[in-house]
Amino acid sequence: MARRQLLLFESADDTARKYLGSYRPRRPVRIVFTRNRSTILSVRDRDEHRVLRIQEAFREAPREVWDAVVALYLKGAPVADRRAFHAVVNAFLDSRGSFPGEAHQTRAPRFDRLPGPDGEVHDLREILDEIRAAAVTEPVDVYLTWTDRINKRTVGSWLETPVGHPNLIRVNRLLDDERVPRLYLASVVHHEVLHEILGFRCRGGKRFHHTREFRERERAFPGYEIAEEWARTHLARLYRSRVRSASPAKILPRGGFLSCGTRTAR
Ligand SMILES: [Zn+2]
Repeated sequence: MARRQLLLFESADDTARKYLGSYRPRRPVRIVFTRNRSTILSVRDRDEHRVLRIQEAFREAPREVWDAVVALYLKGAPVADRRAFHAVVNAFLDSRGSFPGEAHQTRAPRFDRLPGPDGEVHDLREILDEIRAAAVTEPVDVYLTWTDRINKRTVGSWLETPVGHPNLIRVNRLLDDERVPRLYLASVVHHEVLHEILGFRCRGGKRFHHTREFRERERAFPGYEIAEEWARTHLARLYRSRVRSASPAKILPRGGFLSCGTRTAR
């Protein structure tokens, strides 16, 4: 109880003293803990204060991590030392894996306006059930849908939505076609399912979706190589055959489809 009160009445200056250690800045520092998962750390000057916004996970960071944060973001460590400080901060972020909090500035998609998983040819739910049975052990609770229209760039995408809503996996309507083998479609959905399972890692405020672990699990999918080979040899032709009116210059800019897009709903 006493501890709880202490936290409630702790002033911004107390917080700064607690985390900044022996650092005595000329300009007072305010620390603001955020639940933002995409920007982990930022520093801004506001009036007479310097404001350090930092992910809540750092409340539990050990002294050496805070010393590295102070050196990098407040003291402005010399270039020669920055690499070592970044290594300390990154090791802490890696050890955490994921962060408490909510997706940044999100609003839920209009699920009722999405076309859903039932295609003309393929049913995405069946594909997901097969993946659940054969390729993943984690529970996967996502909303699956085809895109409204054929899309020029990505075969699939994973969209993170606000807390309380399922995340969204969308598959390019292009693949709802009898010429598309089920194995390829399954490899596309599997890729997006891995985003759902593995989330993302942050380093230096950037998000990384296709980590080494991600790529290893993607390659472990049964038939992955065959599926990739099918895409390399058939996807562009399939696209052209379905978009008769588009000129070749407008098809597949810069050499092909991206395997996926990941983003946070805005
Ligand atoms: Zn991806």
